[in-house]
Amino acid sequence: MKELYLWQNELWQRWNGLRQRLPHAILLKGAQGIGKLDFAMNLAQSLLCEQPRADGWACQDCASCHWFDQETHPDFRLIQPDALSTLDEEKEDGKKPARQISVDQIRALSNFANLSAHQGGYRVVLIHPAEAMNANAANALLKTLEEPSGRMLIILVSHKPQQLLPTILSRCLVLAAPMPSPEASAAWLQQQGIANPAAMLAQAGFAPLQALRLVEEASGADEYNRFLQEIRQPAKFDVYALAEQLQRTEPVRVIHWLQQWCYDLNSAKLTGKVRYHPEMTDSICKLSIKIAVLDLLRFQKELLVAKREAFHPLNPKLLFESLFLSYRQMMLASA
Ligand SMILES: [Zn+2]
Repeated sequence: MKELYLWQNELWQRWNGLRQRLPHAILLKGAQGIGKLDFAMNLAQSLLCEQPRADGWACQDCASCHWFDQETHPDFRLIQPDALSTLDEEKEDGKKPARQISVDQIRALSNFANLSAHQGGYRVVLIHPAEAMNANAANALLKTLEEPSGRMLIILVSHKPQQLLPTILSRCLVLAAPMPSPEASAAWLQQQGIANPAAMLAQAGFAPLQALRLVEEASGADEYNRFLQEIRQPAKFDVYALAEQLQRTEPVRVIHWLQQWCYDLNSAKLTGKVRYHPEMTDSICKLSIKIAVLDLLRFQKELLVAKREAFHPLNPKLLFESLFLSYRQMMLASA
């Protein structure tokens, strides 16, 4: 589940009002770093959810929501440049990952569009950022938009909509993502553990997520390395020491690290590939061999619940201890 930011409440209501008569395509536009992608992910999940709540929010409990959280939903496609999905790492062949969305990525959609949805409901395509489509890709998308198939929604997310083809724009219902007020941005950043957000906010053009990214780039590397060092050696993992060392780190961030780590364990187990820690592929594969899939699912569920409640934990250290203990238990049970 992605966060729905306070400044997006009205936008969410607008989207919820659209659900009865969905367009074929939505353009979600707005400044960079204000949470558009998270909003679009929430929108997609809620449309695929089997039992959305009255406010339109995905239930987080049904099979569909579970697949969505695991990034394995058969009726959902996220299309973005390779450079975004591989976090700027070099590919095996030594080439830099592409920064554009290629025509092949868009053409693959026509197959997807012709399939009927696995779950009998909607299929959702999310293209992010839409301006990364090269000219051929944009033309291919236009074709798909010109012959819309029923019960498929295409969501374009863009902070440079002026770079999109006018013919594409004219086929989209436009939703403008609001810029949060400086006060709302500062309050949100404080919740993320940033004590004096004003300077960073200004540097980030008052886009709060962008500001957080800047802060994270500037700090946190030490904590993250310490985390990796412990977690990659479950037998030697000093749970209490690490919880102590991380107690000033924002809980949401630590849970996010654990989620990425578990994602890689799962992916290594099923496919031999990892996404977030490519330089540690070998050791992650080794670790993943003996883990019981059900244990991993259970722990991932525990992380999801913890993340939902992590914005105001009474005691981050205790929270970390309990999560790290679960992790160690899972890993040692498998050894
Ligand atoms: Zn659901």
